[in-house]
Amino acid sequence: MAPNDSQRNLLRMLPGVDRILAALGRIAAVADVPKAVLVRCARLTLDAWRERILAGGAQAPAQSPALETIVEEVLGRVAQAMAHNLRRVVNASGIVVHTNLGRSLLAATVLDNLAEIASRYSNLEFDLAAGRRGSRYTAVEDVLCEISGAEAAMVVNNNAGAVLLCLETLARGRKVIVSRGELVEIGGAFRIPDVMAKSGGILSEVGTTNRTHLRDYAGAVDDQTALLLKVHKSNYSIVGFSAEVSLRELVALGAEHGLPVMEDLGSGTFIDFSHYGLAKEPTVQESVAAGADVVTFSGDKLLGGPQAGLIVGRRASIERIKQNPITRALRIDKLTLAALEGTLRLYRDPRRAVAAIPTLQMITMPFAVTQGRARQLSEALAALGDERLGISLRELASKAGGGALPLLDLRSLCVTVSIRGLSVSRVEAALRAGTPPVIARIEDDLLILDPRTLQEGEAAVIVDAFATLLKRAPNDPK
Ligand SMILES: *Cc1c(COP(=O)(O)O)cnc(C)c1O
Repeated sequence: MAPNDSQRNLLRMLPGVDRILAALGRIAAVADVPKAVLVRCARLTLDAWRERILAGGAQAPAQSPALETIVEEVLGRVAQAMAHNLRRVVNASGIVVHTNLGRSLLAATVLDNLAEIASRYSNLEFDLAAGRRGSRYTAVEDVLCEISGAEAAMVVNNNAGAVLLCLETLARGRKVIVSRGELVEIGGAFRIPDVMAKSGGILSEVGTTNRTHLRDYAGAVDDQTALLLKVHKSNYSIVGFSAEVSLRELVALGAEHGLPVMEDLGSGTFIDFSHYGLAKEPTVQESVAAGADVVTFSGDKLLGGPQAGLIVGRRASIERIKQNPITRALRIDKLTLAALEGTLRLYRDPRRAVAAIPTLQMITMPFAVTQGRARQLSEALAALGDERLGISLRELASKAGGGALPLLDLRSLCVTVSIRGLSVSRVEAALRAGTPPVIARIEDDLLILDPRTLQEGEAAVIVDAFATLLKRAPNDPK
């Protein structure tokens, strides 16, 4: 539809890009911003105004905006364009291994070597002793074998890749026997039956959802069978009338028929959490000791390292896996490798690992520590002295998250905050829009700040965020 006279008039009165650029040229804050960014932001701002004018109706402006208004909008877009898209956030959700928020934080001691490897040449695939080409897996194989007790190890990009690679290597075109109780979906479209199909393995389901017996596996073994697979029920639990076959029993059955046994541990941990008053999770060492040929697990779930897929087990199986050309497509990057090596080295002394690795620190954090932190945070918020703030303390459950320790509730003292005149979702959104964004959780229509997942200095960030929010929020009439 052609613009009418008044629309044409409004459009004519919009400033040109040159005038906007000239105005921006007088603003010191954007002196270092590349010209291309300024031009693009000016154009986008003008486009938005043109659209509003041409749309007509109630949204349409009655008069052309002042140059200052437009410049103000352009500056907003420039600030957005100059900020990184991937940036730090404050996790006040209480979910420790939060997949959407980057899962695990690297231990501080890991960062120095990571920075050096990132900015210098390294012996990534160079055997320094022999002076010729080496393997990148050397960096972590020794330490992985040492702490897991396995004969051999290798690593790929993530655990989904590890599972795919192992199935493809060990079972392509042949049968893999899995319990119906373990056909898991992890989220992000990782489903055992789908990964199996992509690997070329033929899924042979046995047992029922709640009960699978050794005789179910034994009855399914035939000359087409390549592998017995056990999958950790990461994010759910079958309770009540249930039965599953232990890894040890599967290994015995495998030995009887000359079949390898693989276990996908999902999270995978070297730490026995029952020593910390938490539920027992199977450890990698236990799976290796039970005789699994291949054990796969994630680098960034309970392990608390970078995203990676770790594979440990018997030498013969691991060697076959290393020879698979798909390995090249799932290759671990050198930065990840540096971070993984640093993280794994900490596990040589489990107590040191728990103290230094943030994921472990947060999961094993005693209730009393959350209590102290919650009280401090609530007092700091109260000290803002704004009578619209409603602050209280509540005992709630944090989560390990990331498909780890599925049913485990970690008892935390949390802070709930309300602001008179603002809905819970408005407050949540305002915190999320801050710099840095603060990610809270909402439960029972309450905004919850869980101190368990806060890092050093972040309580102060939250207090600042509320101070800003209160300044901007309209004072209610009362
Ligand atoms: C999380 C998980 C995976 C996938 O691991 P990523 O490291 O996320 O690729 C595979 N299997 C199980 C059982 C899991 O819990």
